[in-house]
Amino acid sequence: MKNIIFISPPAGGKGTQSDLLVKKYNYKHISVGNLLREEVESGSEDGKIIDAELLKGNFVPDEMATKILKKALINNEGPFIFDGYPRTLKQLDDFEEILKELNMNNIVAVYLNLSEEEAIKRATGRMICPTCSRTYHKYYREVKPKVDNLCDKCITTLVVRNDDKLETYQERYKNYKEKTAPLINKFKEKGILFTINDPVHPDETFKQIEKVIK
Ligand SMILES: [Zn+2]
Repeated sequence: MKNIIFISPPAGGKGTQSDLLVKKYNYKHISVGNLLREEVESGSEDGKIIDAELLKGNFVPDEMATKILKKALINNEGPFIFDGYPRTLKQLDDFEEILKELNMNNIVAVYLNLSEEEAIKRATGRMICPTCSRTYHKYYREVKPKVDNLCDKCITTLVVRNDDKLETYQERYKNYKEKTAPLINKFKEKGILFTINDPVHPDETFKQIEKVIK
């Protein structure tokens, strides 16, 4: 199985596809953000350094992110899904160094290409129950609440996460576009880019992904 770098706009369906891959093919989901948080919680020396940077409101230095990522790759069995990393061209260079060092060259960049309009519809339609944390969607029949805006189970009024509110989302989308576009071109040059246009149905998207990872 190939290792996967996932690229999609926020709320673009990356999470759903990752879950399916983990379940069916035993992929190990690697989120650098989570790894850094875990390192902080472990109370290690590196964790303390990371914590101090975050407290100062700084980004974690690239070298630290690289070190933590490398450790996770050594200590776990692949295949891996890389989520939210590499996010910049500099990180891509570091990432390629690690792959070379660990002799991992079997990789594909899966790009879920959604229009901004569709991405907004997805994000702003997401609702969560503040009582039981169950998630719903205004526009998708399979996960629509039985009664508009109410949790099926607790009858609590559903809320939209701040991240998913229209203005916040538009900002995140713009940010994503600016930062990710150069990476997408790089992956294309390297011949490892696989684009799925308008991935509306999760089942069909998954089938397409299955074809390129084997
Ligand atoms: Zn509920």
